Amino acid sequence: MLTAIGDVMRKCYERGWITTRDGNISLRRNGSKTLYITPSGWRKTIIHPEHIVKCKLVDDAVLVPNGQSASGELHMHWLIQRSAPKTRAVVHVHATHIVAAMFAGWDLQELARQFPEVNRYTRVGPNVPTLPATSRELGDVTGVNLGCLPDGSLQYDIVGQANHGVCAVAGDPWSAFEHVERLDHICEIVLKSGVKPN
Ligand SMILES: [Zn+2]
Repeated sequence: MLTAIGDVMRKCYERGWITTRDGNISLRRNGSKTLYITPSGWRKTIIHPEHIVKCKLVDDAVLVPNGQSASGELHMHWLIQRSAPKTRAVVHVHATHIVAAMFAGWDLQELARQFPEVNRYTRVGPNVPTLPATSRELGDVTGVNLGCLPDGSLQYDIVGQANHGVCAVAGDPWSAFEHVERLDHICEIVLKSGVKPN
């Protein structure tokens, strides 16, 4: 699964969903105290298992190994991962059509309801408003809008982050990628239709 992190990053780059140094992915195995996360500032097209930062989950914090630099969105990943009831992957990228649809004024949750192939497999949460990248607030609101339940499960699989990107959660990196792909596809369709939001 660590190999999949780099593979998903490369696929996202090919899709134009990130520029070279954007995007981040984390992975936590079932019950593990280790949080794997992509490094900060590294070219995401050349991520391989040996580049992934191995953080430790202790009490109510996450520890980054000395001399290593974890993703700037570590807080967001930690919030979503800390009470994960089973193996969980979190993917944050800047999926073009999703960001464009939000910019045009679409509410992604409402939009997805109209497309059965999306709501059959992917639960879309409320849009996260425009907030500074890597801020605690962005992480906090993203966590809230994903709908964390007391048992650590989530009400939604994906939320859009206005003027920024998307955060998707699944049992492995490729399944999280598929949530992004599905939502990006309907956003592309809606944008091409020329229909404007109410
Ligand atoms: Zn970002």
